[in-house]
Amino acid sequence: MKFLLLVALLGVIWWVWKKRAAVPPSAPRPDPRPEKMVACAHCGLLLPESDSIAAGDSFYCSEAHRQAADAGRR
Ligand SMILES: [Zn+2]
Repeated sequence: MKFLLLVALLGVIWWVWKKRAAVPPSAPRPDPRPEKMVACAHCGLLLPESDSIAAGDSFYCSEAHRQAADAGRR
C-alpha cells in the first residue's frame, strides 16, 4: 500500500513538472515598452515616432505634410 502511494505521488510530481515544462519560461509580450508618440508639425496628428517622418526637430505624419510645411517656410 505504501508503494502505491509513493508511485501516485511520483506520478503527480512528474505530471506537474511536465505541465510546467510545457509553458515557455518567458512568453513574448506584444509591446514590452510603450512607444513615444509625436505630433505632426503640420496637422497635429499623433502617431508613433517610428511611423513619423522626422525633419530637423519636427515630426510629420506623411511626406506630403513634410513638404507642405517645408513649402510654407519658404
Ligand atoms: Zn500631418
